[in-house]
Amino acid sequence: MRAMYYEAFEQMPDIRVVPDPTPTENGVVVKVEASGLCRSDWHGWMGHDPDIRLPHVPGHELAGVISATGRGVMRYKVGDRVTVPFVSGCGRCGECRSGNQQVCEAQFQPGFTHWGSFAEYVAIDFADQNLVHLPDSVDFATAASLGCRFATSFRAVTDQARVRGGEWVAVHGCGGVGLSAIMIAAALGANPIAIDISEEKLAFARTLGAVAAVNARDTEDVAGAVREITKGGAHVSIDALGSPVTCFNSIKNLRRRGRHVQVGLMLADHSTPQIPMAQVIGHELEIYGSHGMQAWRYDAMLSMMAAGKLDPKRLIGREISLDEAVPALVAMDRATDLGISVITRF
Ligand SMILES: [Zn+2]
Ligand SMILES: [Zn+2]
Repeated sequence: MRAMYYEAFEQMPDIRVVPDPTPTENGVVVKVEASGLCRSDWHGWMGHDPDIRLPHVPGHELAGVISATGRGVMRYKVGDRVTVPFVSGCGRCGECRSGNQQVCEAQFQPGFTHWGSFAEYVAIDFADQNLVHLPDSVDFATAASLGCRFATSFRAVTDQARVRGGEWVAVHGCGGVGLSAIMIAAALGANPIAIDISEEKLAFARTLGAVAAVNARDTEDVAGAVREITKGGAHVSIDALGSPVTCFNSIKNLRRRGRHVQVGLMLADHSTPQIPMAQVIGHELEIYGSHGMQAWRYDAMLSMMAAGKLDPKRLIGREISLDEAVPALVAMDRATDLGISVITRF
């Protein structure tokens, strides 16, 4: 099969022919029809992710059709249209048994712990526990965009932050995660505020449901601006980018007893950011991480999509080829694209 492949971090990947994968006993092989390009892939390629062993094939936001199954797979068969969360749980550990596959102790992550979906085929382990059947109404590119950013935002907004109608929700960073969070918070009846340094992204965020916008490039005190808009601070704030500045502002702009959710990854030099802990204590703030979403929670997200309340297709920017994904991946940290790039030609 053709795959994007690298032997060293920070060196230009190439497209080459590698052996086709075979399924494990409880796994499947998926013929990849779409695979989204994500900042996590860039982090991995930079060497920021300790799970990656070289040589490597990246790619973790995928959708496709099952082309082979292991003997132990009961719920899926060849020809099924599927997607999968980027964290797949083993199904056996305590976290998995409690329904929290997103923090499984032996997690399988295509594109990180194993070879991923920037390829014609990808092997997925623990299939019965993790695959999600795709309704015919959801196209592959849209389904691929769910796997990481949209699903992660769904869990962050609905389950971790427990956003309710009427609440102010500040969203720091309007990339894929942030725009998803704005769409989801608006669908739940909350009042999202978009924060970014790009006017274009802020304007797009308004079309997705943001009721106010703060340009962090022109605003000296971002947290103060949010507190002013919300008359006292946001009920919920999400750092969708992952940087010391956005993390700090996201906590700083909360009202008393507010909830901060960290979704943007904090890796390498950013892994121990400054946090206004006196405010966390005095105002009884809650601080959460959010890491993907369990396969069993996809039902709620897919039913909101079927009902027309969520339309993740609007977040897709470009559909590109596997070859075009190489320059797109290495330039990801400088990307100014509006919307998610998805590989749909392999
Ligand atoms: Zn597990
Ligand atoms: Zn991702």
